[in-house]
Amino acid sequence: MAAVEHPYAALDNLPAARSVVAVCAHPDDEAFGLGAVLAALAAGGARTTVVCLTRGEASTLGSNADLDRVRAAELEEAAATLGVGAVVLSDHADGRLADEPLGDLAAEAGAAVADAGADLLLAFAPDGVTGHPDHARATEAAAVVADRAGLPLLAWTLETAVAAALNAELGTSFSGTDVPDLRVRVDRSVQLRAIACHASQAADNPVLWRRLELQGDVEVLCWLRTPG
Ligand SMILES: [Zn+2]
Repeated sequence: MAAVEHPYAALDNLPAARSVVAVCAHPDDEAFGLGAVLAALAAGGARTTVVCLTRGEASTLGSNADLDRVRAAELEEAAATLGVGAVVLSDHADGRLADEPLGDLAAEAGAAVADAGADLLLAFAPDGVTGHPDHARATEAAAVVADRAGLPLLAWTLETAVAAALNAELGTSFSGTDVPDLRVRVDRSVQLRAIACHASQAADNPVLWRRLELQGDVEVLCWLRTPG
């Protein structure tokens, strides 16, 4: 299967925003997952901030003893490529975000949201999309912040057909939805350049490349907290 077909009558626009804060678990989430959406928001004039709660040191990709330092540098480079204006990198243990008090994670993300004067939050879908529990925990923290600040929270996800194809072909644990709130056509060129910045994670990553192929030029998103 090439890209999943999109029999939609019309695609949606991304919401207007002045300042967007994306809450992620790992360096590369902002590029591999949110990259096309973040690049589009930045290109549309929004100020963008990435909050990344771990340094990604537990990755099984990239055999480097200094993976935490390497991945932090890759994040900076990728964020700049996407047009992201600020990166807030924490050093919670990769793979163990669920053990961190939710209030602590939300306080960190909330401080970044206040600093940025954000009017839109962005995160992975609550199930974590890839099946990684750190992603789900980062979104949990973003949801707490959104509720407290009264801000809309938009979640990146996949179409069910994309998730199912990946899981069948590659034995992954992706999840998706049949009823996204927004279906947005994206230009992946900037995202692809940002992905290349994450050399330790992108070089040998057949799941990533197959996912992008299946997604084609459409991203799907759900509101976890609607505007207004
Ligand atoms: Zn991740």
